[in-house]
Amino acid sequence: LEVTLAILKPHLIKNPVSMEIVQKRILNEGFKIVNSKIYRLTQEDAEKFYAEHKSKFFYNRLVTSMISGPSGIYVLAKENAIKHWRELMGPTKVYKAQFDNPHSIRGELGLSDTRNATHGSDSPESARREIEILFPEFNLD
Ligand code: ATP
Ligand code: MG
Repeated sequence: LEVTLAILKPHLIKNPVSMEIVQKRILNEGFKIVNSKIYRLTQEDAEKFYAEHKSKFFYNRLVTSMISGPSGIYVLAKENAIKHWRELMGPTKVYKAQFDNPHSIRGELGLSDTRNATHGSDSPESARREIEILFPEFNLD
């Protein structure tokens, strides 16, 4: 069993219908919700979380968008959870998501490359790091 950290980004959870669609999909796809909360990332959380992107042109936009309101934060578990969740999300860039995988979460609900609906960890190391940032009380061992 593997865990991944999923975020339903602020613009998505503002819309209860979108929120419902994504939550249903999480459960239908066989993920177990190990932990979840509605939480507004602080500036500090967002900077830590996206440290690898600090030099990118979209960094400020990304941090500003992530702290603009509460997000839905989930620890999801299943076999191959990381890869499976990233497949469900679809490509990072919204035009690509809409073109290549229109039924992915980003294809259906992404608004822009920044407000692309969801986040998912990209490796077991990232999942661990991200869970430590957003669920500091959660013990992974
Ligand atoms: P995530 O890490 O959110 O699961 P990802 O691994 O597909 O997505 P990354 O390259 O890690 O994508 O980028 C992190 C986030 O930065 C993206 O989810 C998106 O919100 C934002 N981002 C990435 N590339 C761009 C871009 N070209 N323009 C604007 N925002 C971007
Ligand atoms: Mg990433």
